[in-house]
Amino acid sequence: MADKDYYEVLGVSRDASQSEIKKAYRQLSKKYHPDINKAPGAEEKFKEITEAYEVLSNEKKRANYDQYGSADGPQGFGGAGAGDAGGFGGFGDAGFGGGGFEDIFSQFFGGGSARRNPNAPQPGRDLQYQMTLTFEEAIFGKKTKIKYNREAQCHTCHGSGAKPGTSPVTCSNCGGSGYVTSETNTPLGRMRSQQVCPVCHGTGKEIKEKCPTCGGSGHEEERHEVEVNIPAGVDDGQQMRLQNQGEAGANGGPYGDLFIVFTVKPSKVFTRNGADIYLDKDISFTQAALGDEINVQTVHGDVKLKIPAGTQTGAVFRLKGKGAPRLRGNGTGDQRVTVRIVTPKNLNKAQRTALKAFAEASGEKVGTGKGNFFDKMKDAFDN
Ligand SMILES: [Zn+2]
Ligand SMILES: [Zn+2]
Repeated sequence: MADKDYYEVLGVSRDASQSEIKKAYRQLSKKYHPDINKAPGAEEKFKEITEAYEVLSNEKKRANYDQYGSADGPQGFGGAGAGDAGGFGGFGDAGFGGGGFEDIFSQFFGGGSARRNPNAPQPGRDLQYQMTLTFEEAIFGKKTKIKYNREAQCHTCHGSGAKPGTSPVTCSNCGGSGYVTSETNTPLGRMRSQQVCPVCHGTGKEIKEKCPTCGGSGHEEERHEVEVNIPAGVDDGQQMRLQNQGEAGANGGPYGDLFIVFTVKPSKVFTRNGADIYLDKDISFTQAALGDEINVQTVHGDVKLKIPAGTQTGAVFRLKGKGAPRLRGNGTGDQRVTVRIVTPKNLNKAQRTALKAFAEASGEKVGTGKGNFFDKMKDAFDN
């Protein structure tokens, strides 16, 4: 296409200003953009327009072209391959030699160097997964597999969005910057304002032939399975992070992370506070009075607990190391057993006699007179 006259292609005069060139290019590229114009030859025409613009919008290349009839500088250029962003385009660092325009631009935009690079890698989104555990699973940990949907890198194009065998090219509308500027004349001179490029939506790249799998997004939804090693001792509301198990990043950025948030079901037997486990245990009046050794349930299995003679209701006994493991740091919590003395009900005759004797031996005046406690109990039992 070197034989084409770039000025003719854009329909501008040889002394056209940059703004005239840009305006002409924008009008023509809209008209012939292959996404809009499906007529045969439109794409070819669009390529010509883009090539002409790439040369004429760059003062150095334009000077070469004017002088030698070719834009080829020492480094050459053609087709503007991927990764070429910033090498050309209206408002990059290179190109404009002097002139009031660049000064105004620099004033407002720091010469372009402060702009976000649209091609910089961006990490993918983090995801959250709710997991419900039984009381025991939370204490002892668990190895499990979970499945969820996520945006993964497209397996066909590996994230580029381009049809296999092709690559995304630098956006011809914005020259890869991801931004376009528009200008207005004001009494102070020409003023420019910046907008996200409508062609590439700020990515700085255009995909001419889209990947058939992902349609150009570079991502596809996948059913993802991951093995999770839940540590012993997790608690209700705690979360665990699995690196890179979130969604795919952009421009080669890493995957986001997955956060598993735990809900722990209550136990019918125990309660838990951190690493400590609590249990209420009923004992009889005689066990409390005479002392005993009883079996107590713990999450680690039954253990023996000595109840000393004269134990009061509400007394708390500690079973060391019978709680939940601590996630960070060493050791395991304890189990605390609160005993509750159960008053006997529905006494039989022998029991009543024994208790009366007990009361007498204690010097108590219990069960004398009519309608006393023991008679009432007897009536209730005999009926
Ligand atoms: Zn793809
Ligand atoms: Zn663009």
